[in-house]
Amino acid sequence: MGLIVQKYGGTSVGSTERIRNVARRVARFHREGHQLVVVPSAMSGETNRLLALAKDLSPNPDPRELDVVAATGEQVTIGLLAIALHHLGVKAKSYTGGQVRVLTDSAFTKARILKIDEERIRADLAEGTVVIVAGFQGVDGDGNITTLGRGGSDTSGVALAAALAADECQIYTDVDGVYTADPRIVPEARRLDRITFEEMLEMASLGSKVLQIRSVEFAGKYKVKLRVLSSFEDPDSTSNGTLITFEENDTMEQAIISGIAFNRDEAKISLMGVEDRPGVAYAILGPIAAANVDVDMIVQNIGASGHTDFSFTVNRGEYQKALDVLEQEKNTGFAAREIIGDNKICKVSLVGIGMRSHVGIAAKMFKSLAEEGINIQMISTSEIKTSVVIDEKYLELAVRVLHRAFELEQAPKVA
Ligand code: ASP
Ligand code: MG
Repeated sequence: MGLIVQKYGGTSVGSTERIRNVARRVARFHREGHQLVVVPSAMSGETNRLLALAKDLSPNPDPRELDVVAATGEQVTIGLLAIALHHLGVKAKSYTGGQVRVLTDSAFTKARILKIDEERIRADLAEGTVVIVAGFQGVDGDGNITTLGRGGSDTSGVALAAALAADECQIYTDVDGVYTADPRIVPEARRLDRITFEEMLEMASLGSKVLQIRSVEFAGKYKVKLRVLSSFEDPDSTSNGTLITFEENDTMEQAIISGIAFNRDEAKISLMGVEDRPGVAYAILGPIAAANVDVDMIVQNIGASGHTDFSFTVNRGEYQKALDVLEQEKNTGFAAREIIGDNKICKVSLVGIGMRSHVGIAAKMFKSLAEEGINIQMISTSEIKTSVVIDEKYLELAVRVLHRAFELEQAPKVA
């Protein structure tokens, strides 16, 4: 028996039928004697619908007001879930982020959680009440409603688990765990029983959509035991999903490569013929950072005759903004012969802690891609990942080819 936080994604609460199912699972855990905090997302499609309403009224809605609108999606599901639980005879109470007080900073539409007041939740739990907290939302110090960025209810769940020192944070979604690759692209992709926290962090940051990256960071910082499970299984199912572990257990199965992540949501900007002198990288990326645009990969060539080429990638949604910033800074902050943009690229990455101790992984990756005639535009590596930027039209092919080359459909042999 313990304290469990269960987070349910949008598809898991996408209809009253699904909400009833969630209630049945929650009721079962409650019956087994666990204390439960449940964190639902908005019904699937709802957040998109709400944001579209705002965009229909203005191309550039005020972020504070966007959050007022977007946060309503979760207010609906917490109330509905409480009602469904009452109907099953389970004591339950719902709270918005502001009511709990999930305190955040004031970065509307991508706020960060600063603190969670847990007294109220603890008091309810002590009385045997299931506590339902709206995901994705909080309030800033002035009481303004904030949201945590798309997919943010994962972070709400993990942050609550951290604040309450929960025994486990279960993330229920429409897949039954973390896979070696997206099964929609690679049908023979395999579910992982466990994945190390570091690998999960890379997978999430590299585009695997299973968990929001911030939620994984949070889990790492506070050592929250995270598990990804399917909400579509029978509420009485005892499937274990994928555990995100902090131990690297050498007696356990350990693959060299755990998975392949990809991100379509990227764009590349190249500045040709910039001066090769101290301060140029800063002159280019300083204003980009000041405009709050996240930069991902950065590549600078070796200089020749005092000039060099400089490329970086950004989120596709911020591509135009980044180009505009550069256009403005050009000839004042830095000079460039030409600025070239390409928003039809994607990033494909191999992730695995085994890369630390095995050589030749990158070479094998490049060979596999070359055999399919896929050109690599940029490369970046870390201790446990190798990423390439390629033309978007080859994304699915690249993922499949790599999955096959590294035989990820097969469970690794026990060392
Ligand atoms: N409802 C929010 C979204 O669609 C938060 C979430 O689902 O995690 O992004
Ligand atoms: Mg989600």
